[in-house]
Amino acid sequence: NGTIKLKEVTKNYPNGVAALKDISLTVQTGEFVYLVGQSGAGKSTLVKLLYRELVPTSGEITVNGFDLQHLREREVPKLRRTLGVVFQDFKLLPKMTVAENVGYALHVLGKNNDEIRSAVTQVLAEVGLEAQADHFPDELSGGQQQRIAIARAIVNSPQIVIADEPTGNLDPKTSAGIMTIFQRINDRGTTVIMATHNQQIVDELPHRVVEVVDGQIVRDEEGGQYTHEL
Ligand code: ADP
Ligand code: ADP
Repeated sequence: NGTIKLKEVTKNYPNGVAALKDISLTVQTGEFVYLVGQSGAGKSTLVKLLYRELVPTSGEITVNGFDLQHLREREVPKLRRTLGVVFQDFKLLPKMTVAENVGYALHVLGKNNDEIRSAVTQVLAEVGLEAQADHFPDELSGGQQQRIAIARAIVNSPQIVIADEPTGNLDPKTSAGIMTIFQRINDRGTTVIMATHNQQIVDELPHRVVEVVDGQIVRDEEGGQYTHEL
């Protein structure tokens, strides 16, 4: 699979904020999509709907073949196993080593230690951090921590990688290195959808740009720049 489809999706928060207003969006297998827009536009809300952190107020969402409208609460882990999610603040577990952070999801799935060790070694190599396997997250730089988080996101070979401001805490040079890794993941055919307000990365690594303003999609442009000349 690797597809995402939103049809007339609206999300109102309990306090009355209308975060998304009747959004429709289709992403095909293997696409790389930037969700851009100012802070408060609704990018995070859209991303959270995809991995069922939030439920829409109305509308239909299909992710990787899962009809989220009819997904039971106990089936949510099944959906999430097909997704890799990367956050701005890394969300690594501080008391686990790098290797344990990356392998944890496989451990929960009941994979044996040999399988885990081999998968962890492989993804750590892909993000260039084999040597840090037995370190703890707080011994690493921000860029290295984000690489670990990406390794964790891809260790189970997800068909879709979802990233919410993955370079938000990183300097421009480190961000460029992180983007190279996302590009490589996409080159293998994995769908990537990334919320970002980082103009430099969007302009330097052109992909489809979906711009959100005040809860609505105002632009959907293949190979677009961050800002749009009207
Ligand atoms: P972005 O990711 O583009 O910065 P968000 O999706 O975080 O935008 O926010 C969209 C709107 O929804 C904003 O007005 C924000 O204040 C509001 N919002 C976000 N999360 C919540 C929440 N948990 N409860 C109420 N309002 C929220
Ligand atoms: P083990 O039971 O094999 O000693 P640990 O409990 O120390 O493993 O670590 C948790 C998981 O992380 C294990 O399943 C293991 O396969 C993996 N792991 C631990 N250290 C490394 C490493 N240096 N390189 C790759 N994977 C590792």
